[in-house]
Amino acid sequence: MYKSGMETEIQYLGGVGPKRAALLRSELGVETVGDLVRLYPFRYIDRSTFHRIADLTPDMPFVQVLARVKSTELVGGKRLSVWVEDATGELELVFFKGLKYIKARLEPGSAFVFFGKPEAFKGRINLVHPEIDNPPAAAEQQAEGEQRTGVLTGVYPSTEKLKNAGITGKVMNKLMMGALNLALPEVEESLPDYILREKGLVPLRFALRNIHFPSDKTALSKATYRLKFEELFFLQLSLLKQKYIRSRSMVGIPMPKVGEAFHACYDALPYELTGAQKRVIREIRTDLMSGAQMNRLLQGDVGSGKTMVAVLTALIAVGNGYQACIMAPTEVLARQHFINISKYLAPTGVRCALLTGSSKTSERRDIHAGLADGSIGILVGTHALIEDTVVFANLGLAIIDEQHRFGVEQRSKLWAKARTDVPPHVLVMTATPIPRTLAMTLYGDLDVSVIDEMPPGRKPVQTLLIGENRRLALWKFMREQIAAGRQVFVVYPLIFESDKVDYSNLEKGYEQVVAAFPFPPYKVAIVHGQQPNEEKLFNMNAFVAGRAHILVSTTVIEVGVDVPNASVMVIESAERFGLSQLHQLRGRVGRGSEKSYCVLVKGQKVSRESQKRLDLMVATENGFELAEEDMKMRGPGDLEGTMQSGLPISLNIASLAKDGPLLSEARAYATHILDKDPSLELPENAPLVAELRKDKYFKRDYSKIS
Ligand code: ADP
Ligand code: MG
Repeated sequence: MYKSGMETEIQYLGGVGPKRAALLRSELGVETVGDLVRLYPFRYIDRSTFHRIADLTPDMPFVQVLARVKSTELVGGKRLSVWVEDATGELELVFFKGLKYIKARLEPGSAFVFFGKPEAFKGRINLVHPEIDNPPAAAEQQAEGEQRTGVLTGVYPSTEKLKNAGITGKVMNKLMMGALNLALPEVEESLPDYILREKGLVPLRFALRNIHFPSDKTALSKATYRLKFEELFFLQLSLLKQKYIRSRSMVGIPMPKVGEAFHACYDALPYELTGAQKRVIREIRTDLMSGAQMNRLLQGDVGSGKTMVAVLTALIAVGNGYQACIMAPTEVLARQHFINISKYLAPTGVRCALLTGSSKTSERRDIHAGLADGSIGILVGTHALIEDTVVFANLGLAIIDEQHRFGVEQRSKLWAKARTDVPPHVLVMTATPIPRTLAMTLYGDLDVSVIDEMPPGRKPVQTLLIGENRRLALWKFMREQIAAGRQVFVVYPLIFESDKVDYSNLEKGYEQVVAAFPFPPYKVAIVHGQQPNEEKLFNMNAFVAGRAHILVSTTVIEVGVDVPNASVMVIESAERFGLSQLHQLRGRVGRGSEKSYCVLVKGQKVSRESQKRLDLMVATENGFELAEEDMKMRGPGDLEGTMQSGLPISLNIASLAKDGPLLSEARAYATHILDKDPSLELPENAPLVAELRKDKYFKRDYSKIS
């Protein structure tokens, strides 16, 4: 059915038709004229400047040369080789399709504009299938159909299939012009006047026209700014609105007191809390007293002292007559938590229990009884803690450590453990530093606390990057450290091939280490995921207790394990690890009073990207800086991939990685508007409500994920 303007199906746009429409749909997701108008250029070519042939290098993304055709030659009927020249040199152009037509067009002696990607081929540079354009002078007199639209020309996403169907860059520009002519007259402003005024934004129509066909650079930057701001603003507005609604409707358990247990623990602490720890505890206390449910994400770099915050938070719950649980991702970690926490709890008299997959039946029975009669105040454990058989008398708080290892489903199971309709408070702790911009968006409806200060006395870790040729020097260094009474971690990557996990790296490495550090006097322990649980715990404990000098492992030690006497972290094939993983591993050392080292051993073939990552590790120890850089390098989608769920939002023009400051501004502004008009009821905010209803900013609803 034919509809007018934005809603017009794309096939009815002049120059499209059913075949191209099918391609536009499958390749670019464009179904209507409106979709096409919202497909923005990802780059602009300045058609007024040309590269000199002599300056071309294969590093250049795209170049535009103005050159005269010298000769054309058909090679074997399959390839057309065209030599062109400008005042600085000669260049070969290569074509594989449309040979006859191109040969006829590129008459020797005439000049053209060629646009393409320089490639190195046999020591020379050539352009394969460049776009061909008439030179600028001739362009002025072009026929009307060929849109010449100013200096900057937009370049749109494209695919091989689209190009083969004749939808070249030039054709896209033409289609876009048609689409704009059809759509613009009925485009409605999506932002209220007062916002345009306060934020100095150009109107939507101006923005859409100039994002596609900029009249000049200033117009383009105004258009870009307006569209990015709008996108981020609506995203934040929608997230914050959910948060407002929840904080008003979601009743939480009021925990008005701090309680005696808290004070008993606090007064007995062997150290002063850092300023950041104190601030975070105040933030949590405010939540717990508010009468609304707490949903807080606590971020803090490895070693920043999150455990202490967890313990004190749990004690507030206990002090108000509720139970708390603390859930860790692995058995090793849960056990270590339990040991640490028990120490802190000694002066309080609060009973703490450990429940894991390997808890014996009799232990379980005890724990179940203690939970049911309320005598256990704090339960520490692994996933075992969310099994259906575990029933609390009155769970008031759930703390989840290292959140990225828990699935959404497991979190919701925890919620269901509350006895009444009132859900427990939730504190999620993570040492994976999520860049603020991403946290603001991913957890836009959660509150975020950050421990951005390390406990005093933590020594910086010196990071070294070495190649295989320094192996003997590394052994020597390890011997010296061991002779001085220290311990050493050696970590190998696991290699995943299809669904097979390859341990050969680790096994070979272990043999190599044992050969270099023979018993006696050296003791080498090994820990990996394939070992039976008991063996793993036994070896791990040997290292924790100082009986083994070296621990060879896969990344099972990545999170949490605390061995202050370990002063060296050796990471083998370091290029195979992601930045945040490397950072987590490095955080395992530097916890004691001795100077510590992280040695990154790189393999023979390291891609440019990996090298950049490794260099960055050497350059900084700041987890947030690393996370920001990582995100810039990989894009937020990838980063989120490591957190085991898809990025729930789709951005069209703004980038979480690159537009951090604008995102903060958009969020602050959205907050400002909701402060004044929480339900967006004021007439001037009607356009905002209409826009939010379109719901195009969310791929799926994740408001219920805690
Ligand atoms: P995280 O879980 O954030 O990685 P931990 O809670 O394990 O860090 O704390 C790391 C180490 O720092 C522990 O040995 C802990 O006892 C110690 N610690 C925590 N807070 C402080 C503090 N305020 N002052 C001194 N040491 C602290
Ligand atoms: Mg921890």
